[in-house]
Amino acid sequence: MATAKVTIKKGREKPIRNRHPWIFSGAVSTAANAVDGRLVTVVDYKDRFLARGYWNSKSQIQARILTWEDEAIDDAWWQRMLSRAWQSRAQYVADAGIPDSRACRVVNAENDYMPGLVLDRYGDCFVLQAQTLFIDRHKKKIADILQSHFDAEQVFERSDMDLRRQEGLHPSVGPLVGGPPPERFVLNEGALFHVDIVRGHKTGFYLDQRRNRQKLHDLVQSSASARDIDGPPSLLNLFSYSGGFAIAAQRDSDLRAVNVDSSRAALELAEKNFALNEYDKPSSAASAEHIQADSFDYLRFCVGEGARFDYVVLDPPKFARHKRQVARAARGYKDLNLNAFRLVKEGGYMMTFSCSGAISRDLFQKIVFAALADAGRQAQIVEQLSAAPDHPVALTFPEGQYLKGLLLRVY
Ligand code: SAH
Repeated sequence: MATAKVTIKKGREKPIRNRHPWIFSGAVSTAANAVDGRLVTVVDYKDRFLARGYWNSKSQIQARILTWEDEAIDDAWWQRMLSRAWQSRAQYVADAGIPDSRACRVVNAENDYMPGLVLDRYGDCFVLQAQTLFIDRHKKKIADILQSHFDAEQVFERSDMDLRRQEGLHPSVGPLVGGPPPERFVLNEGALFHVDIVRGHKTGFYLDQRRNRQKLHDLVQSSASARDIDGPPSLLNLFSYSGGFAIAAQRDSDLRAVNVDSSRAALELAEKNFALNEYDKPSSAASAEHIQADSFDYLRFCVGEGARFDYVVLDPPKFARHKRQVARAARGYKDLNLNAFRLVKEGGYMMTFSCSGAISRDLFQKIVFAALADAGRQAQIVEQLSAAPDHPVALTFPEGQYLKGLLLRVY
């Protein structure tokens, strides 16, 4: 078969030389013998080698780069790249002192120079997401390597994200090697969590928020002694999913949590998680309410009621998928943050997040600032928050920095 060759227009090769992994159609001058889902060699207008990657004419991102070296993308390449990612995680989990070091993100797609591939590990089960056609074609091979070189007992596929549609792919969920995943997986982050690998969000759990859950826990602990004696602290946990922030905050505390999510299944998981951790409570005062509601409406309701909380967590789903949706998303974030600010007690805390890749940290901070001004409150940034270190961001790929947040003290 003739070599597939993508020639980049004169003057458009700079981002590629700077190691950005995406090539959009506007930068492509010709694509000789390029086949969707197969490897291509990328060259500049003078036919000089730039990179090697894979092609999909159906996607807006027509090519994604795997390497900037003139090397073969073969089994040995995959083994090398997977072990590199694996070793960096071994370091992270050792440093983080996580009780259950066997749960973490192992491959973070473009950020680990394996575009389109996400791999999360829950004990002996690896969960694979193939976001692109090329990865979809290679998933079985990757699963076999995980089994033979990384002791995976099962590799389960959870390729059911929207992104696949843009690649002309349907959702695909099921075992790749080693049969179905364990019926029950309990993750120990200090607090315990049921992880639903088959039906849960993403690959079953929001591993990216691990550090931030821990920070909330630490904050509740350190504020406990300083707090005046008006009863147990309270947390409003909006977009709560399986209760992650509330469960972590309630460890060693009699905190009262209100979890709000629009999904009944998510709240059922949160209830199960609360029960799973019940032994850990210092008194029976700790409680969790699980409210199925739209968070926008519920915030307005609380404002109307004059409710106040010591802690408010806002962790909405992605509002902006493209640059085109940024303005609308900004209005959504502003509305949420405005009402959330109104609910925080004097001297209380808010953790607010955006996981939209299209919204920069700078823009997010401006939106939260505008919300604060309208709420007539004051707030200090105590900490900038991001995804846990097993979700590293390639410096050459700013889009990888999807999760950004602020820990604010509110007056
Ligand atoms: N904070 C969670 C993750 C949140 S994911 C954690 O740490 O694990 C976003 C959640 O928002 C999902 O569970 C989804 O069901 C929920 N959701 C989406 N739109 C919503 C809305 N308008 N109101 C309430 N919940 C919503």
